[in-house]
Amino acid sequence: TATLYVVATPIGNAGDITLRAINALAIADAVACEDTRNTGQLLSRYGLSKELLAAHEHNEREAAQRIVERLRAGQRIALVSDAGTPAVSDPGARIVDAVRAAGLQVMPLPGPSAAVAALSASGLVQDRFLFAGFLPSKAKQREDALRKLADVEATLVLYEAPHRIVDTAQALLSVLGGERQVVFARELSKLFEEIHRCSLAEAPAWLAADAKREKGEYVLLVEGASAADGDDDQEARRLLAILLEECS
Ligand code: SAM
Repeated sequence: TATLYVVATPIGNAGDITLRAINALAIADAVACEDTRNTGQLLSRYGLSKELLAAHEHNEREAAQRIVERLRAGQRIALVSDAGTPAVSDPGARIVDAVRAAGLQVMPLPGPSAAVAALSASGLVQDRFLFAGFLPSKAKQREDALRKLADVEATLVLYEAPHRIVDTAQALLSVLGGERQVVFARELSKLFEEIHRCSLAEAPAWLAADAKREKGEYVLLVEGASAADGDDDQEARRLLAILLEECS
C-alpha cells in the first residue's frame, strides 16, 4: 500500500543499516533524498538503483506536493537524508507533515542518529536530555543561544559543523564556565572515531593537542546545570532575605 517510509541511513559506517531499511529501499518506487549523487552511491552499495527525487531544504515544499501526488497514485516512497535519521537537523519534517495532512501513511524505519549514538557511549546520565541541534554560526547569536540553555538541568546535545568546533568549545566555556563535563563524540562509526570526556575548562587544550581534532563531525554533550547550583541559588536567596530583614 502507498506509504512514505522514513528511512534512517548510516552516519559513517555502511554496515549500520537495518534489514528493514534495505527492504524499504528495495520495494520503493522512488527515493526522495537531499543529494541525488550521495544517495545514488548509498543505494549502489546495497546493490540498488532507484528513481531519485531531490528533496532538499530549498525545494522541500514543492517536493512534498509531488510526493503526496505519487502516494495518492498508490506508490511507495522512501525518504532519506544524507546521513542518519531524516528530519533530525535535516530536511524531511515538511514532507512528513504534508503526507500526514493528506491522510496518507507514514512509517519510520528506526536506525542511526548521531545524537543517540553519542549519548549511548557518553556515560553521562541521560534520563533527560535536550537536543539543541546546531547553534547559530555567528558568535553573538551563538552566545545568546547558549545563555538561554544555561539553566537547563538536562544533558545538552549539540551538533557542530566541521571547522567550528574550536569556537564552539570556547563559547561553551565562556558562557557556561569551566566546571561542567563535556563529551566530544567525533567521527562516530568512522575510521577516526574518538569519544573524549573532560571538563569545559580542559576542552581547548584537548582540541589543540591534535591538529585533526579541529575538524571532523562532532556531537557535543554538555552536562546540564546541576541541581546543586540551584541549591546554592536557593541558599543565597535565603541569606539575602535574612540580611534584608536585618537592614529594614
Ligand atoms: N540526521 C542526522 C542524524 O540523525 O544524526 C544529522 C544530520 S546533521 C546535518 C549533521 C551533523 O550530525 C554533523 O554536523 C554532526 O554534528 C552530526 N554527525 C553526523 N554524523 C556524525 C558522525 N559520524 N559522528 C559525529 N557526529 C556526526
